[in-house]
Amino acid sequence: MTHHTESSPAENTLCGMIANQNLPHALLFTGPAGTGRKDIAMALALSLNCQNATHTEGHAPSSLSNLFCGKCKSCRKITAQTHPDIRAIQPDGTHIKIAQIRELCDTLLSKPLEARYRLIVIQEADRMNTQATNALLKVLEEPPLGTHFVLLALQPSELLPTIVSRCQVLRFRPLPREVVACALMEEFSLSKPEAITLSALCGENLGKAKEIANSKAGASRWLLARKWLAENLPMAGRGDVAHALSFAEIIGRDRETALSNLALIRHYLHDLMMVNLMPSAVANVDLIDQIKNDAARLDANRITAMVDVVHLAKMRIEGNSVMRHTLEVMALELMGS
Ligand SMILES: [Zn+2]
Repeated sequence: MTHHTESSPAENTLCGMIANQNLPHALLFTGPAGTGRKDIAMALALSLNCQNATHTEGHAPSSLSNLFCGKCKSCRKITAQTHPDIRAIQPDGTHIKIAQIRELCDTLLSKPLEARYRLIVIQEADRMNTQATNALLKVLEEPPLGTHFVLLALQPSELLPTIVSRCQVLRFRPLPREVVACALMEEFSLSKPEAITLSALCGENLGKAKEIANSKAGASRWLLARKWLAENLPMAGRGDVAHALSFAEIIGRDRETALSNLALIRHYLHDLMMVNLMPSAVANVDLIDQIKNDAARLDANRITAMVDVVHLAKMRIEGNSVMRHTLEVMALELMGS
């Protein structure tokens, strides 16, 4: 991956646990809605089971997304929610019921079918009724080998202390991007999606985001430019040669503009890779519908190849290659199948 959104303290803790091979068998993720608890639980399942994962012991990666490829059989099954060993339990009606936990306990009697590490995610764990809680407690006391539990709740106080005491609690806070976005909205006339996008594209760097919002072009025009780029990216089967060449001309008016446009394109392609794996990592939140459509249309290998093409163009332009030619080659390669 060429770009990483800043990871939260909770995610950093998980990365450290994986690197040190001391991931507890029961975790409790707490925090308000929208803090990415479910996404991180999913990323954890991917990280623990990716067939292409290269874990270096003792060396903690900066983000869980560094630990899975998104392409192997395990990653694909987990993302499609068809992996037999990665289970999500959620309330059946108003509560998580005893029958659901009993059924879960039955499957836990046998070894994982495919996974290196089985992961059971209990969503809205505060909505387990007493019977279900007691049944779960038994499993948490004697967890089956190779099985990890992640419980999700708003606050530890919403669960029985006996459950909480068997879990390692990780608190999730609002993402820095939301904090930066609020500051931007106070100072500039940006809509919330615009402010969140600007924050994400600037790596949650408030100073940089303000600079863009302040510049003579203004944040709205900058965001429009990015929208234009995403729409006109000469994607597979979408563009023709003339379109690709005019795309290259428009994005490369001068060297500085070209490099900034390439950075925006890279963010967009990164979003295409992340939208199904870790939606909270998507930067262009205001373009989410288009991102979903494009991600469904292009396969992961194609997107990775496009990222490489854009990266190579950036290196060449930084290395003072003839800019127009470099951008034309890039646009034609992006267009090709
Ligand atoms: Zn994988």
